[in-house]
Amino acid sequence: MEITAKDLVQYFYSVVDVIEKEKDYLSELDRHLGDGDHGVTMSIGFQSVKEKLDVDLANETDCGKISTTVGMTFLNAVGSSVGPLYATGFMRGGMVVKGKEVLNDENLTEYWIAFVKGVKERGQANVGEKTMIDTLEPFGKALQESFTSTNNFKKAFHKALQAAKEGMESTKELLSKKGRSSRLGERSKGAQDPGATSAYFIIKAFEKIL
Ligand code: ADP
Ligand code: MG
Repeated sequence: MEITAKDLVQYFYSVVDVIEKEKDYLSELDRHLGDGDHGVTMSIGFQSVKEKLDVDLANETDCGKISTTVGMTFLNAVGSSVGPLYATGFMRGGMVVKGKEVLNDENLTEYWIAFVKGVKERGQANVGEKTMIDTLEPFGKALQESFTSTNNFKKAFHKALQAAKEGMESTKELLSKKGRSSRLGERSKGAQDPGATSAYFIIKAFEKIL
């Protein structure tokens, strides 16, 4: 399969839409665990991304430039802990597809693997600590494994999304070890992690362009 720069721009518009739709839900989750701002934060970040998509990126043909610009724009717009995390993901993804107008199965796999690695390196969280890594690491692992055995990105991506969903849901019962919610100790159990949830929405939106 092939994804063009136009498709990639379309993808980021889908992320803008899903974040607007789920804004209240994400803040509600963050009210249980943090300061209740996650939906607002994500919305501020992606509304700023939308402005870039509308103007500077409307006719951009370099997939790398599109993703890197999205990351930088998100970083500049967002103050909280997710700012540098998602920004690093999109910028690292952008680096591996730099200069490409079209992405093939292999490029797409490398893009998402780089995204996950970037977030992980930036945040230094491990699976089981109740963060977006509980969604992203199983996603990246399943994507890599499934792509190695099938050579089919679309198939591998669907498998990986399933792993991501399970990872996201697993955060409900976890004790928070990273970020603001770690101060809650035992009280952090019982609620799904907001970042694990927004991470799932971000990757799931990619299905739309496949
Ligand atoms: P803040 O905690 O600054 O209010 P947000 O509410 O926007 O930031 O985001 C909180 C989310 O950030 C958490 O739900 C968690 O998933 C994620 N997070 C926090 N610290 C880390 C980290 N070190 N690595 C990965 N994700 C993290
Ligand atoms: Mg918060």
